[in-house]
Amino acid sequence: MDTPAPPAPAGAGRYAPSPSGDLHLGNLRTALLAWVLARRTGRTFHLRVEDLDRVRRGAEQRQLEDLAALGLDWDGEVVRQSERGTAHGRAIEHLQEAGAVFECYCTRREILEAPSAPHAPPGAYPGTCRDLSPAERAAGRARCRELRREPALRLRAEVATWSVHDLWAGEVRGSVDDLVLRRGDGVIAYNLAVVVDDAAAGVDQVVRADDLLSSAPRQAHLAHLLGLPEPGYAHVPLAVNREGARLAKRDGAVTLRDRLAHGESAEDVVGRLGDSLGVAGCRTAADLLRRWNPATLPADPWVVDLPG
Ligand code: GLU
Repeated sequence: MDTPAPPAPAGAGRYAPSPSGDLHLGNLRTALLAWVLARRTGRTFHLRVEDLDRVRRGAEQRQLEDLAALGLDWDGEVVRQSERGTAHGRAIEHLQEAGAVFECYCTRREILEAPSAPHAPPGAYPGTCRDLSPAERAAGRARCRELRREPALRLRAEVATWSVHDLWAGEVRGSVDDLVLRRGDGVIAYNLAVVVDDAAAGVDQVVRADDLLSSAPRQAHLAHLLGLPEPGYAHVPLAVNREGARLAKRDGAVTLRDRLAHGESAEDVVGRLGDSLGVAGCRTAADLLRRWNPATLPADPWVVDLPG
């Protein structure tokens, strides 16, 4: 008798916080949703700390404690991007071998002040260093040495747009530019690190806040160039304050610890997050997972209006 084919591997989801401070309710809601969307589809779930930039001491530990207090669990060790330099470097070499990288000697100011191409958004890279002669490159390198920085490395983009699939937004075509791969201070750029690290963890479902939706096409294109599978995306509508501005620490008691200090329990906070996701009366992450109904998922920003 034929043995049935083994089920296709279910893939993986992830949450990737930046350890710049405590997670606020909007971050916690995105994390909870990432966990639910992964677990309900039998995916593994991974945590990756995006610590290449803007690190506050102790923030990572506090973030992990807060996620655990909400009832989230994760598979394997927590990955730190700062420990993935070898893989990031290898990815850049791969692109260099394909002729898809050039050095850029511009300062941020020069880019801002350069006349931009027609229809390009303000501050878009005007292509200054894309096609320099060897002599111009040597002069650029000398200038970087004087400024005590390295040339940045940019992708030589050969397409202008790329298309991704998003759970809320559907098919999204967005621009691909000569994005930075490694910055002038030697730090690997977020767009490269996210692609390499997600692929290494087998992530095929990227859940995050929708302020990153416009980055998804360039990231998916980068995955394509690196010969990596392009993930599906779910960009979660942002949490906003009463004025409609993106939720921030200055909006008051917006972290889990703030809410606990106001006499709420972790269960109350999960309940609030569940309500905002259209599932009333949850007390734990496991409740939300059990009672999850994708049809109730709001497509509008979540207006956070807190007592106290
Ligand atoms: N680290 C980013 C943040 O905390 C998320 C990046 C991502 O999920 O790709 O907003």
